[in-house]
Amino acid sequence: MPFEPTPALNFTTSYEELVLRIENSKRVSVPKEVKQDIENLGIKVDDSLETLYETSRDWWPLSLRWVTKDFAPAKCDLVIYPKNRDEVSSALKLLNSKRIPVTAVAGRSGVCGSAIPLAGGVSMDMRLMTGIIDFDDESLLVRVLPGTSGPELENTLREKYNATLGHWPQSMDLSTVGGWVACRSAGQYSTRYGKIEDMVAGLEVVLANGDVIRTGNQGPRVAIGPDLNQIFTGNEGTLGIVTEVMLKVHPLPSYTRKVAFGFDTFENGLEVCRKILRRFATPAVLRLYDAQESTRHFETQDTHVLIVLDEGDKQIVDAAMNIVEEEAVQTGKSLNSDLVDKWLEKRNDVAALGSLTKIGVVVDTIEISGKWSILNDIYAEATSGILEVKGAVVASAHQSHAYLDGACIYFTFAGKDPDGDSDEFADSFYRKCWDVVMNVVLKHGGGISHHHGIGINRSRYVKAALGSGFNILETLKNTLDPNGILNPGKLGLDSGFVEIDVP
Ligand SMILES: Cc1cc2nc3c(=O)[nH]c(=O)nc-3n(C[C@H](O)[C@H](O)[C@H](O)COP(=O)(O)OP(=O)(O)OC[C@H]3O[C@@H](n4cnc5c(N)ncnc54)[C@H](O)[C@@H]3O)c2cc1C
Repeated sequence: MPFEPTPALNFTTSYEELVLRIENSKRVSVPKEVKQDIENLGIKVDDSLETLYETSRDWWPLSLRWVTKDFAPAKCDLVIYPKNRDEVSSALKLLNSKRIPVTAVAGRSGVCGSAIPLAGGVSMDMRLMTGIIDFDDESLLVRVLPGTSGPELENTLREKYNATLGHWPQSMDLSTVGGWVACRSAGQYSTRYGKIEDMVAGLEVVLANGDVIRTGNQGPRVAIGPDLNQIFTGNEGTLGIVTEVMLKVHPLPSYTRKVAFGFDTFENGLEVCRKILRRFATPAVLRLYDAQESTRHFETQDTHVLIVLDEGDKQIVDAAMNIVEEEAVQTGKSLNSDLVDKWLEKRNDVAALGSLTKIGVVVDTIEISGKWSILNDIYAEATSGILEVKGAVVASAHQSHAYLDGACIYFTFAGKDPDGDSDEFADSFYRKCWDVVMNVVLKHGGGISHHHGIGINRSRYVKAALGSGFNILETLKNTLDPNGILNPGKLGLDSGFVEIDVP
């Protein structure tokens, strides 16, 4: 395989002894003759126990806890590995005619369980569809296959084309282009380069019935009705399988500047970020850590640390950073820019989640979106609400992505069973913390996710989050996938296969 997913934790027992945590009465098996038909199409298949169990899990933190107890979240019945768009199309045509669920999987780094095949059936592993198809230097556009991993894409862009996508999710080494598009991913340099949905210029998508469609790719900002790229960006494999992505790229930056500041309150730091954005300064990295997280990451005391990094053309970067400094010194104190280097060193370290889970800590992160006018209330109410949940030991946050109209707040919660290490405690503590934050966000009219998406974990909040707009999503689903075979049980969409409120 060109790229191997990195599981956060390994099972401690043999695959034969694993128990399914999400048993589903409507779990669909794949008949032998269907497996044979798929092989006859020239598509590689695998139904070894190891492959079935490994392909059926991702980094959803609650399910990582189950893994430590040798529960597998769910299990597909067959894994298939299409090599190209035509194989995706013929496989879907066949599986749709047999009403067999299909869940796309790639890096399996999702943290909400979106790649977990709740209804069994087929997992379609996209990793053989990898590489750059072509590069348009004049227009700064790259066409890339969906299974291309983060490092493969960025390294090739840099080395061969002197370009960068500027998309740096913390999970860079774990994830793929198709996964980014399917989940509306955000990179750490998003203030300069945007989120993945800002980078998508065109898509090729295979629908549930095998039809191949193309969206976008006609130049910038066309006015031909609604933007069809955006219907499939964030679809989490429920509306179609992305088989090609056209992305906007940038020339490699020639200049970088870094600064750091400390604030007495998180509120003061947020206000500075808001003012920077209002003046049209968009430094690539603009992250504000509350005092607790600042101590954890930077070993500072009682200060809320803002780290800022910009890169690109010197004149633009200097102008942006001058604005940052002008605004930040009003209420903050300048800190050593080594803090930014410290952050750069550790920014892709993904070991913490697995290590904490192993020692019985129930931990997760929750990223939400909100207008500036509601962010302080959300921060205060969500962190205090988490700390009221029995067993909570950590409730902290940082602002990770900022815009003219608002920002993403990224919460971390952790807790331990005060009376031992029971599974009942873990499941209930986890759910309560999520309910606290989601209810605070919904109460204030914020967005329940900024970039991790919905998956299984957030499904139960989607109807409330979308309100009357949910009907449009349902109509799209029923029109594009009338048999409901694509990733059943996700995005809060009802399907004939799965009850939504799992677990
Ligand atoms: C430690 C850690 C840090 C993370 N940091 C970030 C971060 O900074 N920013 C961020 O945005 N996310 C982050 N994530 C979340 C995760 O990496 C992203 O959601 C990523 O986009 C998932 O990509 P993947 O290739 O791993 O997809 P998978 O997990 O395999 O799949 C995710 C979803 O996409 C669907 N899918 C995959 N490929 C396709 C396709 N070709 N067509 C249609 N649907 C498809 C799947 O069905 C599933 O619903 C982090 C995760 C971890 C574990």
